[in-house]
Amino acid sequence: MPLVALVRCESYDPSEVRKTLEKAFALLGGPERFVKKGEKILLKPNLLAAAPPEKCVTTHPAVFRAAAEILADVGARLAYGDSPAVGSAARCAEKAGIAEEARKLGLAAADFARGETVSFEQARQNRRFVLARGVLHAEGIVSLPKFKTHGLEKVTGALKNQFGCVPGMRKAEFHMKLPDAFDFARMLVDLTRFVRPRLYVLDAVWAMEGNGPRNGKPRKLNVLALSDDCVALDATACRLIGLDPRSVPTIRLGEECGAGTFREHEILVVGEDLVSLRVPDFDVDRGPVRPFRRMGLSRFVTNRLVARPCIVEERCVKCGVCVETCPARPKALAWPGRDRSAPPVYDYSRCIRCYCCQEVCPEGAIRLEEPLARKALNLFARGRI
Ligand code: SF4
Ligand code: SF4
Repeated sequence: MPLVALVRCESYDPSEVRKTLEKAFALLGGPERFVKKGEKILLKPNLLAAAPPEKCVTTHPAVFRAAAEILADVGARLAYGDSPAVGSAARCAEKAGIAEEARKLGLAAADFARGETVSFEQARQNRRFVLARGVLHAEGIVSLPKFKTHGLEKVTGALKNQFGCVPGMRKAEFHMKLPDAFDFARMLVDLTRFVRPRLYVLDAVWAMEGNGPRNGKPRKLNVLALSDDCVALDATACRLIGLDPRSVPTIRLGEECGAGTFREHEILVVGEDLVSLRVPDFDVDRGPVRPFRRMGLSRFVTNRLVARPCIVEERCVKCGVCVETCPARPKALAWPGRDRSAPPVYDYSRCIRCYCCQEVCPEGAIRLEEPLARKALNLFARGRI
């Protein structure tokens, strides 16, 4: 039966985080269960974008440090790395406070700039990946995700954290190729099954709610959670915020593809009582995710049922990051004139609803708006119509 260690951690005070993580490791049988002396282990935090720790965009440096210290005490040889959605990895690590902790501990940054092509025969959605050399040249991976809301997949945690193993702009290609949330989730599960992190350390001391994964609000959950079952871990985190794990595509597909279990009676939660940590009013999309494409609906109909990105003009600084990032061809987001005097405008007929623009906007100027038809559908699904 998969174990999830759930421990209360009320601040990022380094000694509290270290003590709490030690307790969590002990609940799972000790760090020696996951790494051996002399092994080359990659720590994979979430470094989505260049943001300071208090914004909750990235894994907190105190969690990174405590995990690194505990694994180094076993004798593992550690490196760290991630490929952000936007900007350079070095700048993101610096801003997140991770690079400084790594320097203090003598950890090298792994090679996430260059990639190698790999093939995964057991894949259900995507067989060929280009992965960072830093991932492929490690003997094992310990994944350090941050718990946040996510436009396409509702939440990002253990299962989604491996997407950063794909270097640079290659990530955007997947959005174009797999616009359906379930297909995209299945690809993420393939990736996780291939990379097979040995352990996941979920940072949910402060999580992100609302307009995540980059521009939501920090929300305190007081939790660090560890498991070697990414599906069980994400499902447990969802139960903390009162979100049905079956409504999260990565979790549903994770179980379907054999990456773990989301079923409560099949998961042994050890440590803190889950009920005592619940935050049921966490701001997250609680509506059903519908596999519209598989229902055979056209883009025209689908686009009237799924949330669309909108720019809040007053917040837009006209930096153009959203335009550069949009993977649609031709782009679904463009400047209205030759200069940049007005915010970019959407052509929704081209938009594949990947929400990359919302994810990368540095000002939180892009919000997801549900069309009326979708709102009505959600009310119907909740039995209120
Ligand atoms: S919406 Fe955001 S990313 Fe796009 S131009 Fe405005 S501030 Fe930049
Ligand atoms: S406009 Fe935004 S949501 Fe639409 S395809 Fe481009 S990046 Fe994706």
